[in-house]
Amino acid sequence: MTSSLELHGVRAAYDAITVLHGVDLRVGAGEVVALLGPNGAGKTTTLRVAAGVRAVSTGRLVLGGRDVTGADPRDLAAAGVCLIPEGRGVFPNLSVRDNLLMMTFTGKTHEEIEEVAFRRFPILAQRADQIAGTMSGGEQQMLALARGLATDPAVLLLDELSMGLAPLVVERLYEQVGEIARQGVAVLVVEQFAAAVLDIADHAAVLVRGRIEYQGPADGELRRELAALYLGSH
Ligand code: ATP
Repeated sequence: MTSSLELHGVRAAYDAITVLHGVDLRVGAGEVVALLGPNGAGKTTTLRVAAGVRAVSTGRLVLGGRDVTGADPRDLAAAGVCLIPEGRGVFPNLSVRDNLLMMTFTGKTHEEIEEVAFRRFPILAQRADQIAGTMSGGEQQMLALARGLATDPAVLLLDELSMGLAPLVVERLYEQVGEIARQGVAVLVVEQFAAAVLDIADHAAVLVRGRIEYQGPADGELRRELAALYLGSH
């Protein structure tokens, strides 16, 4: 199953405070789009809207050409939308194996889930009996991705994968994310600091105070935009 993801003029609010002011974004099947921007810009909210966890006030959410605005998060998950939240989304008190075992709700067997997980992240096989919370941050992030892959995602939404990880670990994780995209998954990656994700991103968008200020290739112009942003000239 492959799908593109589109946001058209999306506004979203927490109570009376609007935090997204008309966001337009498109992630094609097989593409990686990096959504960058400073603290509080609305990046996580954008992912939450895409997963149906946060309602759209106005605008449209379109999945594989189908309008899914207002759809229940469970229906979007069933349609292949997988959100991996910041903070890794693993059960820290359970072993790696049990974290994967829980994904049998997808209808797959434990063996099938482990096969996919261990092929992509061989270290998880070595750590199968280890309690997830005692693994390194990078290994936990691999486990979170492996759990996500068990859902056969068409759209993968990744929030700050790099949080607290060493640059080399982040680079390796993003190489895997790039490979996942090449299998036809639409990947939307939120990052505050850009470097590693830009190596694999097809496009980037910069969100500032709930508005997309730049959208285009991850090239020199983007780097200038980011420099201006982080040097505070916006
Ligand atoms: P960060 O990089 O710091 O995680 P972000 O770009 O992901 O930031 P969001 O987390 O989407 O930004 O937050 C956007 C705005 O919405 C912020 O001003 C934030 O305080 C506010 N906000 C986020 N979640 C809630 C909530 N549950 N209730 C009220 N306001 C919220």
